[in-house]
Amino acid sequence: MQKLKDWLLYPYANCLLFTVLVWILYSTGTVWQNFAIAEYRCGLHLAAMYYVFAYMISLVVGLYKPISGVLKAIVIIVFGIYFSVNVFCISVYNTTITPDIMAIIRATNYDETKEFLMTYIGAKEILFMVGFVIALWAILRADNILRRFLNKYRYLSAVPIVLLILAILSVCRNYRVLVLEFDSESHWIFNAEEIIDLRLHKTNPTISETDSIHPSQVVLLVGESFAKNHSSLYGYDKLTNPCLEKLQADSSLIVFEDVTSPTTFTVGAFKYILNDYRLEGNPSDLKWYDSTTIIEAMSKAGYYTMWISNQSPYGMYDNLPSGYSRLCDKSYFNPHTGAGKYDEYLLTIDTDTATAAHDKCLIIYHLMGQHEMFDKRFPESFRHFTADDYPNRPPRRAKIISDYDNATLYNDYVVGEIINSYKDHEAIVIYFPDHGIDVFDVTEHFGHAGANAESIEHCKKVPFVVYISPALDRKAPNIKKNLMLEKDKAMCTDTLFDLVLRIAGYAKQ
Ligand SMILES: [Zn+2]
Repeated sequence: MQKLKDWLLYPYANCLLFTVLVWILYSTGTVWQNFAIAEYRCGLHLAAMYYVFAYMISLVVGLYKPISGVLKAIVIIVFGIYFSVNVFCISVYNTTITPDIMAIIRATNYDETKEFLMTYIGAKEILFMVGFVIALWAILRADNILRRFLNKYRYLSAVPIVLLILAILSVCRNYRVLVLEFDSESHWIFNAEEIIDLRLHKTNPTISETDSIHPSQVVLLVGESFAKNHSSLYGYDKLTNPCLEKLQADSSLIVFEDVTSPTTFTVGAFKYILNDYRLEGNPSDLKWYDSTTIIEAMSKAGYYTMWISNQSPYGMYDNLPSGYSRLCDKSYFNPHTGAGKYDEYLLTIDTDTATAAHDKCLIIYHLMGQHEMFDKRFPESFRHFTADDYPNRPPRRAKIISDYDNATLYNDYVVGEIINSYKDHEAIVIYFPDHGIDVFDVTEHFGHAGANAESIEHCKKVPFVVYISPALDRKAPNIKKNLMLEKDKAMCTDTLFDLVLRIAGYAKQ
């Protein structure tokens, strides 16, 4: 009995600082994320859960004392790395580790990692890491001093024990919150996945002509995190899409009403939207990267291909999407990083000059759009909505929603300008985001959807519009006529391959 009691008190009597340290290292990121969006209750429940967890780790460490020192060191190294990565992600991306980041880490090779780290790791970061390691070492050393003190005053052990009981009660009462936290979509996913160079997976498809008329410019604008219900094109009560609405009123823009994205996060979506890989119905042994890309098919049809991106060529979020850029004849990436990296960079590329030597061009734009960190997605001159415009929302959320709507308004301006730059060509422009986002729309959170089916469904609903220039419409009026017949039908963006080839007057055999 005494042995059991000693063991249960081990985290308190022998390694209280170690227990607290594990608790802080493991819980900080998640608790921060919840506090940042004013989810204080959820943050506290999670903190309680992590306390129970840290206590249990200390109990395991105390099971067999001869190796407890080694176990402690391993635990601190693992959680120290987890904490550092979280701090890094929070400072660079304003988010903790997400499925996007995990997927990119899996798909990153050595050179890309080096380049990425050189961009972000400077003297300040190295000093932080050195200070951090020293602090961890000092805290563990101090545990020995504290142990002697606590053993003199064992009655104080009631405090952490009471705390532990309260935390266990909190965990039991709020297990639903905690189950969500550990849902596989929103938490850690460790499926090893090989690094893909799409250039090594070309399929050499046979492309045949189905029409004698071919648009001279086929333009794809791939947006980012655009929630359909925040677009005034689809009835949102704030005027977030004035430029696109104007084009719609001129009858040159066709607004599709029932379009979904294949998944709710970037890396997942890009496995489907730019190739003929489908969510369902693929041959069982076909991998997404062994399907035919729109770029290769259009290239075979005689189109010169270009990629213009305001996202990065390498790095956390970017390896998989930008992999497609390496299939293009020419690609541009915004050389700037950090603040001021707005989507109007895309307007600075003179596509007229770049494509002058080619009769037919496929141009793919990849926007930063309404990516998380909404307040960083638009310049001050587009701060049109403020928290006061959302009187029924708590202030902190109203601010986030107003930032999101401002980012949408700015996105509307950029997309409108890009479309207008093609109005004198025989051009077709298709604009849609990789996926939507939940800005407190159906859940109490914002961001990519979690386990909640309603939130996933919400994040898959996306705007989808097609612009046909007057010159192309005169030459090939059937394109618009056919699209008008399709615009109310349910469609997933995993079928974009067929749509693009059909509009361009081709088909894959
Ligand atoms: Zn995305």
